[in-house]
Amino acid sequence: MIVSADWVLPVSGRPIRNGAVWSRSSRIDTVGHVDDVVAAAGPRETLQRFAGCAIIPGLVNAHTHLSLTGLAGLLPARSQREWNATLSTALRAFEDDDFSACAAAGAQRCLRSGVTVVGDIALGPESLAACADAGLGGVFYWEVAGIKAEDLSGELADREFPTNPGRSSAARARWGVSPQTAHTSGPALLQAAHRVASAHRLGFALHVAESPAEMELFRFGTGSLAASAHRLAHGFASPGTGTVEYLLRLGVLDGTIAIHCTNISERDVVLLKRHARGVVLCPRSDALQGNGRAPAAALSRAGVRMAVGTESLAVAPDLDIFAEARALRQLDVTLTPARMLEIMTREGAAVLGVEDAFGTLEHGKQADLVMLDIGATTDPEAAVVNKGGPDRVVAVISGGLWRVRDRKLVFPSDGTERACAAAGRRASDALSTKAPD
Ligand SMILES: [Zn+2]
Repeated sequence: MIVSADWVLPVSGRPIRNGAVWSRSSRIDTVGHVDDVVAAAGPRETLQRFAGCAIIPGLVNAHTHLSLTGLAGLLPARSQREWNATLSTALRAFEDDDFSACAAAGAQRCLRSGVTVVGDIALGPESLAACADAGLGGVFYWEVAGIKAEDLSGELADREFPTNPGRSSAARARWGVSPQTAHTSGPALLQAAHRVASAHRLGFALHVAESPAEMELFRFGTGSLAASAHRLAHGFASPGTGTVEYLLRLGVLDGTIAIHCTNISERDVVLLKRHARGVVLCPRSDALQGNGRAPAAALSRAGVRMAVGTESLAVAPDLDIFAEARALRQLDVTLTPARMLEIMTREGAAVLGVEDAFGTLEHGKQADLVMLDIGATTDPEAAVVNKGGPDRVVAVISGGLWRVRDRKLVFPSDGTERACAAAGRRASDALSTKAPD
């Protein structure tokens, strides 16, 4: 199959005017000028042209909790402690199948936004399975928190964590461990989870320095998170430092994906560059929760690998990664359109550790392509980042299969949407009947 458009933006190279991409089965074969690609593919290949469009790599949303999709709009932005308590109430109302239904509904929203790669955190295998069915790839993290380190392997086994973590480069879906935060997992659990991830070369991601309340807890041992840290993070004692320094001293910063990094110091930026795999910034959810602004410009200057993520729909207004990238530009006005596109694609994939398969339009990579309506332009990168959004996504291919065509899902599932909405109603009922704290 060949798709062509006014522009092809491979990200691995300069924009190509009148470009085309030839993919065979699930992978990209040739990228170039349409005449060269057609000549390479031969006369038997079908060609579909997208006038007024740019073809870009499938986008990377590096931080989601898709199994919470049914909670969209239910949890009001408020203090982190209250928000956590409200979330717990809502989730207790979920039935077993609700997590799968929500993940599947979230996967459909991702595709409609041009996202084909996620870094998703969930309790078990439901999200990975639902996303693989829908055509999303990426890294799926099993979230552990509030348990003792010695219970980690039993907990992971109970939750069907893959025991044979082969990381075939052919695989679209990989997995990892997330100890949630350093104040809901104790120091020994952080170290045990990091050992599991390191031993099997799996992803290790957690929320880091997310809020002023977390900073107060780590520096002084006080504040709104102190009681929950005492209850959940076995063995936790305020280190008198920031979270990044704490993770370094525990020996778990190496290879870590640090999500949020809203409240970090200049030294933390240096430590992240030296030790971490990268950061995932979520500027819109940080702002909505009143958590502050990540030092995006300092992270960029230091050369820290950077991705953007929307957070869950329990916080974020939508899963629109273009809007998230534009919010990032407000934190660092020096970001060029080309750099923003890189963060949404190649660098986002590198933060997740899946750059061998995703993030650019190159021979051998997964055939994940987005056809984006940008109109007539001589600056396609600016048009993509300034105009991009779900309403501009004309078509999406992932793993060589059409997922969105003529702006509609190719495999829509009304049942999935209904089940996700039913989960949301259960949560909403639970929240409205719960006595206020
Ligand atoms: Zn999160």
